[in-house]
This record gives sequence, C-alpha cells and structure tokens, in this order.
Amino acid sequence: MYRLKQKWLWFSHSFKFRWAHTPLCNRFVKGAFRIGSKSDPFMFVCRSCTWAYLGIAVGLVFFLSDRGVLEEFWYFFVLSGSLTLVMSHPSIYSRWYRSVKDFLRFNLGLIISAVVVSTVTVNFLLGVGFGVGLYALRFIYSKRRNVMKSQACNGCEELPLEKICSGFTFSAKQIRSYEDQATQLYISSGQSPFS
Ligand SMILES: [Zn+2]
Repeated sequence: MYRLKQKWLWFSHSFKFRWAHTPLCNRFVKGAFRIGSKSDPFMFVCRSCTWAYLGIAVGLVFFLSDRGVLEEFWYFFVLSGSLTLVMSHPSIYSRWYRSVKDFLRFNLGLIISAVVVSTVTVNFLLGVGFGVGLYALRFIYSKRRNVMKSQACNGCEELPLEKICSGFTFSAKQIRSYEDQATQLYISSGQSPFS
C-alpha cells in the first residue's frame, strides 16, 4: 500500500509538468497550453501533442462515419500527408509560425487516423507500411531534433546563473512539494531505511 500511495503522490504532482514536453520559460512557453492563471498555473500541456491528438480524434469520428470519403479522395490524403511530413522536418518546422505548427500537427493526427481507418477497413498492409515508414522518419527527424535541442538554449542570459532557470521553476516547485509530502508519507508509514 505504501508503494501505491507513493506512486500516486508522484503522479499527482508530475502530471502538471510531464506532458508539457518543453521548458516553460519565455523562449519556449508558447509550445505548451497553460491551464490555470498565469501567476499560479495549474498545469501545462504540450501544444503540438494536443493538436495531434485532436486531429486523431476528429479524424476517427469523421472517417468512421463516412468511409467512402477516404476511398474517393485517397490522393488528397496522400498528398496532404506527404506535404505535412516534409513540412514537419525539424529544420523546417522550427521556422513556422505557431499557427502553422498547430495546423501541421492537427493534419498529422488526421492522416494517422486516416491510415488507421484504412488499415482496419481496407488494407492491412497499408497500415504496416505506413507504420514502418513513420517510425523510420521519426528516427531520422529525432536525430536532427536532438542536435537542435542541444543548441536551443544558446545565448540565453539565464544559462550561466547558478540556479534553476525559469524554464524549470514550475517543475521544480512540483517536485519539491512531492518530496515534502513523500517524506511525510514515508515517516507516517513507519518504513525503515534499513529494512
Ligand atoms: Zn508533445
């Protein structure tokens, strides 16, 4: 029971920042949706992922309710999917306005749902092929993204300061609160560090 309580305690603190997928300083905070007030935010959610999941949800409802649309306009979805993937290459993606990024992620979600629906209803191999292709692309893109991430904080005036930067103060606050409560839980549970 202690382990479960501790895990829950961690979850109830970490969900507020773990899905932000980005530091929360001025440079990057646009990449996350804030829930709650600016002075006392409740949590942050990754903006790109939100749009992608929204695209998947809308696509699933749309394509499942009208399956003919995929068969009739398949070329449109192939074209829009290819364009979306090319425009989402990290080097290109980082240059877009935030609204274009939102659209690209939403479109990615739509395309994923189109492939899922086609795989289930029309062709199984299509889904396997697309899945493998997307995985390979993700691998290639993530290499580039890692290079960009390593340079993302270049020139930031907070970098040389010996304190937690503003991008991570929110997470640090949650973690500190977790640590306080976890210590209380630990003491009250009668656990011994020697057992
Ligand atoms: Zn994300």
